[in-house]
Amino acid sequence: MNTPTYSITKVYNDIRGGGNRVGWHHFVWSKLTIHRSRFIAWLAFNNRLKTKHRLKLTEIVESDTCSICYLESETLNHIFFQCRFSQECVAYLKERYETNNTIETLEDTLKRNQMGRQKRRQFEAILCNLIYAIWSARDEALWSHKVPMVKLVVDNVIDTSETKFKFSASLRFDST
Ligand SMILES: [Zn+2]
Repeated sequence: MNTPTYSITKVYNDIRGGGNRVGWHHFVWSKLTIHRSRFIAWLAFNNRLKTKHRLKLTEIVESDTCSICYLESETLNHIFFQCRFSQECVAYLKERYETNNTIETLEDTLKRNQMGRQKRRQFEAILCNLIYAIWSARDEALWSHKVPMVKLVVDNVIDTSETKFKFSASLRFDST
């Protein structure tokens, strides 16, 4: 049976346009990205997160149903881009940032925003932090059978990200 393969790296490279094949390194390891988000984002971009889909292929679990919505196979694509939970996270993130109404998905959020360099770097860091938050929500759903509220998750991502941006800016200011 053919199993569709998915790579966040590919999606991200598509978003960024051709040529820069490892562009995601810049924001996964960016000083603006919250430390605890980096490793999970790195695993996600390297297609190494242990989703249920992946665990089922190696017969570690019997069912690969999404831990959050119980509707589809828990692939990386589903968890981060197709699951209703992640789609609602993106929709609320968009609302908080009052961005373009045509944005439907996480990848559109990056692609369609015409941002300045600093704003884009910040948004890329927020993307990493959101990847971590969605994966944490998935863990919570898997182990505690509770799905956190979208608003709480995204508000926390934005608040912690903005605190980090201010901290980074203060360090830059101090060093000059
Ligand atoms: Zn789901």
